[in-house]
Amino acid sequence: MDYFHRRDGELFCEDAKVRDLAATFGTPLYVYSRRTFAEHFAKLDLAFADVPHLICYSVKSNGNLGILRALASMGAGADVVSGGELYKAMLAGIPPEKIVYSGVGKTRTELELAVRSGIRSVNIENVEELRVLSDIAVANGRRQECALRVNPDVDAHTHEYLTTGRKENKFGIPLAQAGNAADIAAGLPGIVLTGLDMHIGSQILSPVPYRMALAQAAGIVADLRARGCDIRHLDIGGGLAVRYDHEKPMTADEFHDEIISLVRELGVDLILEPGRFIVGPAGILVGEVQFVKEAGEKRFVVLDAGMNDLIRPSLYGAHHRIEAVVDGVGEPVLTDVVGPVCESGDFLGKDRQMLPLHRGDLVAAFTAGAYGFAMSSNYNQRPRAAEVLVDGSTVSLVRRRETMADLVRAEVEV
Ligand SMILES: *Cc1c(COP(=O)(O)O)cnc(C)c1O
Repeated sequence: MDYFHRRDGELFCEDAKVRDLAATFGTPLYVYSRRTFAEHFAKLDLAFADVPHLICYSVKSNGNLGILRALASMGAGADVVSGGELYKAMLAGIPPEKIVYSGVGKTRTELELAVRSGIRSVNIENVEELRVLSDIAVANGRRQECALRVNPDVDAHTHEYLTTGRKENKFGIPLAQAGNAADIAAGLPGIVLTGLDMHIGSQILSPVPYRMALAQAAGIVADLRARGCDIRHLDIGGGLAVRYDHEKPMTADEFHDEIISLVRELGVDLILEPGRFIVGPAGILVGEVQFVKEAGEKRFVVLDAGMNDLIRPSLYGAHHRIEAVVDGVGEPVLTDVVGPVCESGDFLGKDRQMLPLHRGDLVAAFTAGAYGFAMSSNYNQRPRAAEVLVDGSTVSLVRRRETMADLVRAEVEV
């Protein structure tokens, strides 16, 4: 579900004509629909209205302040994985008591920032991290609440780069070590263990892996409580899928219905960390056709948007639906939509049946709101794209296009 639609052969984002946005702000351009991510947030929030819960939006999926501020105003918390994300989440007005911090390699500086900010929970991925965190908390005269991130060893049936809850992944504490970690935590003066956390992967279509992970969690919660820990929250991570192509992802209600009985039995506050589910469908990347090249049976359409703007196709072989912004005419041709970057792996879509495109035409890659701009780079010394946020007919530039000066801003002349 999203608010990108066609009127009289033209693509709109809510009530804004995408062609006008491109004319005003240039290309490559990320366009976000506020109504789309607001509805996805609300759907999940409503689905879980029957239990105490907190939706901690995964900042890494899209960390634009405009989006963070909008979500903050809807009551969202944040799941952060770096000091930078923590900084931005707080700058956007997300209260620290709604922020949880995950990540396998948190530095001392990052943990200090977390402790001093008074965040809700540090998700512990490593027994050593317990000691480091305790020392930092003591030095700051605080007691930090934390959760153990366990690795439930379930298969989320997703891309190998997107699975995080198998024992061969680097994330979380192995289940068998959770009890020992809790005993260590109990002996440390700066921390108090109040939660259990897991995140089993991303782009997970079915609620079944969550149910399996929760069944594992139930045993751990019982064990930790038997050891004297007051476990009050369970964080089941993010990972809810979106539709890129012909997938049939679970709905928020289906997700809720499958797991809610287990959550209730545990008597915990539930934390969710969705990213993609909220912002994925809410964004498109718009590029302009620079050149069209015919090569035998195939047509290459070269855009001014490439892998440095949207790396998912190159990195994961991910599929993004691609359409002309203004309806074309003619017969469909087998088309590769590629970028200008000097890499053969630089493409947005391959072997697509598309109507003929011409120099100057605009093309949109859909479902690019999550892990789109967030993973973009300056590779090939390309200034990063602008981002606009559309709310009905109101359009706000929420990140200006980078300039040549931005490319050298942090470099030091010697
Ligand atoms: C990436 C990540 C998320 C969000 O994943 P989505 O698939 O975008 O929902 C949530 N929690 C943690 C710990 C993550 O690393």
